[in-house]
Amino acid sequence: MANKVLDMVIVGGGAAGLTAAIYAQRAGLDYVMLDTAASMGSQLTQTDEVENYTGLGKIGGMDLVMKFREHAQSMGANMADGRVQSVVKDDGIFTVKTAQNSYQAKTVVYCGGATHRPLGVPGEAEFTGKGVSYCAVCDGFFYRGKTALVVGGGDTAVSEALFLSNFCHDVYIVHRRDTFRAAKSLTDRLFAKENITPVLTAEVAQIKGEKAVSAVELKDGRELAVNGVFVAVGIVPNSEPVRELADCDGAGFVIADESGATSCEGLFVAGDVRTKPLRQIITACADGANCVTAASEYLNR
Ligand SMILES: Cc1cc2nc3c(=O)[nH]c(=O)nc-3n(C[C@H](O)[C@H](O)[C@H](O)COP(=O)(O)OP(=O)(O)OC[C@H]3O[C@@H](n4cnc5c(N)ncnc54)[C@H](O)[C@@H]3O)c2cc1C
Repeated sequence: MANKVLDMVIVGGGAAGLTAAIYAQRAGLDYVMLDTAASMGSQLTQTDEVENYTGLGKIGGMDLVMKFREHAQSMGANMADGRVQSVVKDDGIFTVKTAQNSYQAKTVVYCGGATHRPLGVPGEAEFTGKGVSYCAVCDGFFYRGKTALVVGGGDTAVSEALFLSNFCHDVYIVHRRDTFRAAKSLTDRLFAKENITPVLTAEVAQIKGEKAVSAVELKDGRELAVNGVFVAVGIVPNSEPVRELADCDGAGFVIADESGATSCEGLFVAGDVRTKPLRQIITACADGANCVTAASEYLNR
């Protein structure tokens, strides 16, 4: 039996996907939002405390994603479980497949998020949320007047070290090579900062502490006393199902502007999975809203 053709399939039920569902519901679209495990795969569930979402003050990441979900549910959002395995387009219609089901739609709003690459050293998992972080913009504020250590050598790592140096007492940046990969404009600023110490040709062996991080041991045996470790060794977009459809950058982020429009007509991307300067909850929500608005215009063209 042929599937009915929906206006839209939203993939992902994190900050971007749930906001997209709210906007799709209000726009009166015929849509479904597909997510892996009732939003439990969202990065929000890994966040102890969120302090920078406007209007809510301090809130646990899990509580925030549940609030988003309850909001969408209270409006009658149409949600279903399922990991999307493939998205293909034929004759202007998308087919979105999960292991159990197949959906057809005129547009797809893809909000698969991204995954921070772990360092993979002892102590990292144990102290995540207790001194180990993957986002200086999110957690740096908690290290005011303290000593932080950034791991990595690219633009993100150097930017995070610069950001932290504005309020931390001292910042180390540990990179395994003898030069940074980051843009010269960033490294020039890094070397000019008196409270940043670059530690080159060095690798973290272990993150140590009791209740929270207190030190980092390097592979050469040196030990650095630190309060926080910021891991910036890469972020991997969850873009596999749409990589063949739309242009992506070298790291696999789907290339899109603020409207979420991609090189594939009718495919829109929102949140961490797209190319953008700031990956945060509030920007993911904004993307979800912008995408559905742009997709509605596409449907009405
Ligand atoms: C540890 C940590 C702390 C953070 N702290 C903050 C903070 O304090 N403040 C802040 O603003 N930001 C913070 N962030 C960043 C913030 O969580 C992200 O920017 C935001 O969640 C991005 O929203 P998203 O919807 O793009 O992705 P996510 O919220 O990660 O949601 C993606 C969803 O898509 C689903 N999905 C993926 N692939 C598929 C598929 N194939 N089929 C179906 N579903 C799929 C996932 O299961 C998930 O539910 C933090 C991130 C981390 C990792």
